[in-house]
This record gives sequence, C-alpha cells and structure tokens, in this order.
Amino acid sequence: LCDAWEVIGVSQIAARAGAVAPSARTRVRRHPERARYEPAAIADILDGNFLCHLGFVARDQPFVIPTLYGRDGERVLLHGSGASRALRALDEGFPCSVAVTSVDGLVLARSAMHHSVNYRSVLLLGVATAIVDREEKVEALRIIVEHVLPGRWDEVRPPSEQELRATLVLSLPIDEASAKVRTGPPKDDEADVELPVWAGVVPFATACLDPVADPSVPADVGLPASVLALIGRTRDGAAAR
Ligand SMILES: Cc1cc2nc3c(=O)[nH]c(=O)nc-3n(C[C@H](O)[C@H](O)[C@H](O)COP(=O)(O)OP(=O)(O)OC[C@H]3O[C@@H](n4cnc5c(N)ncnc54)[C@H](O)[C@@H]3O)c2cc1C
Repeated sequence: LCDAWEVIGVSQIAARAGAVAPSARTRVRRHPERARYEPAAIADILDGNFLCHLGFVARDQPFVIPTLYGRDGERVLLHGSGASRALRALDEGFPCSVAVTSVDGLVLARSAMHHSVNYRSVLLLGVATAIVDREEKVEALRIIVEHVLPGRWDEVRPPSEQELRATLVLSLPIDEASAKVRTGPPKDDEADVELPVWAGVVPFATACLDPVADPSVPADVGLPASVLALIGRTRDGAAAR
C-alpha cells in the first residue's frame, strides 16, 4: 500500500500540525502533511480507542503486545498481571512505544500500488513507571475500566487486596508523541484516472451487536446502564469505542 508523494510547503505543515513541536524521533517524515502534534488531536485519538500495541525490546528481541489502556490527562495507563513479561520489562525501565490506530476506511485506487486506508493513529515513545501507591493504583485501574466502558466501575466489585498485589499498573507520559491522519479519496496517477475501474473509499465503523448475557446471570438482572449507553451510542451511528 502506498500513496503518491505530495509536495507541501513547510509553513503549511506547521500550520496543520499546530504549534507543538515534535521531537526528532516523533517528527513524521513520510507524508508530513498528515502529522498532528497538538495534544488535543493526540488525546482525541487515544480517547476514541482502548486497544494499543505496546512495543519494547527485551533481551535483544523486539516484541509487540496488544493490550488495553486508559488515558489520564497527560499519561497513558497500562495494567496487567505482575507475571507479564511485557509489563515486567517496562517496570525494569526499558523504553517502550505505544501505537493506537483507528481504521476509518479502505481506500480503493485504480492501480494496485495506490491502495491505502484512511486512518487516525498515534505513536507514543517513552519510559513507563510503576504506580505503587495503593490509592493511586486503584484510581488508575478505575480510569482504565472507565476508558473501556464508561460507567462500568461503579457497577462492579472493586479489586481485592490480593488482586491489587497481583497487578502491575504502569504510567507512560504523553510527552513524546505524534499523530498521523489520512483522509480522503485515493490518489491515483493522472494516467490511471480514465481506467474503467471503480475507485473510492469504503468507510468503516465499529458497532456493537446485541449483548449476550452470561448463562449464570439471574433472569431478573437486566442490562446495566453502561451497556445500554454503549449500545445506544453505537446504534445512533456515533463512532464506536
Ligand atoms: C492502519 C494503517 C495501515 C498502514 N499501512 C501501511 C502500509 O501498508 N505500508 C506503509 O508503508 N505504511 C503504512 N502505514 C503508514 C505507517 O504507519 C507509517 O506512517 C509509514 O510506513 C512510514 O513509516 P516510517 O517509519 O518511514 O515513518 P517516519 O515518518 O520516518 O516516522 C517518523 C516518526 O513519525 C511518526 N509516525 C510515523 N508513522 C506514524 C503513524 N502511522 N502514526 C503516528 N505517528 C507516526 C513516529 O513518531 C515516527 O517515529 C499505515 C498506517 C496505518 C495507521
């Protein structure tokens, strides 16, 4: 998948990217006109997703692990079993990278090589630190649960002391980050535009299907408010989370 290279002036790039300067590592070089660096644009993409891919190198081997996250202001919160290799590696202070992606559509061009996708993605770089204070840890877990499904925390049993001890919670600052956004139709070569081939965008949306109750749920326990709100939100056609 690739796109025709667009020539774009530096001032245009700066205007689109906002006033926030990227680091040397997060400056988007390939298609810089798609870059967004302003915190609000990055927060928006982080808030529209709850799945990230966590990359790190442990003993010379790069790993990429899918995992849930939550956003708390200017930091991303990750959690998992204290036995998780990924989280233990991060806890040891290894640098990591977190990628979050929304796929908004298939971009179908007239030529094979100009196919693409419309997307909004974020890349964070940094070093995560463990949250050890008990109250802060509970709050971080609450934020992760609420990030995935708003309203759920108050509907369920809070973590026990044993669960808290067995869980590692890490905080990664959002201070070295980039977002990249592709929108719009395919960018075919001029010579291909006359080809009798359908081209365009097939937009994507994520939607929830009907919830399926666990068989052990008593018959008189109905859908909770969090799930009703989630279903309502996606059935109304809003972007699903
Ligand atoms: C769903 C999806 C599918 C894609 N498919 C392809 C594909 O098949 N082939 C392909 O070549 N590219 C694809 N891309 C684009 C890809 O993510 C890279 O942007 C591109 O490959 C350039 O990589 P690079 O290392 O040369 O970027 P560079 O511009 O050299 O990267 C420099 C810095 O820019 C930032 N950056 C780069 N890409 C992104 C990004 N996507 N989101 C946020 N920050 C970013 C990072 O901070 C990075 O360190 C896809 C992107 C998405 C979201």
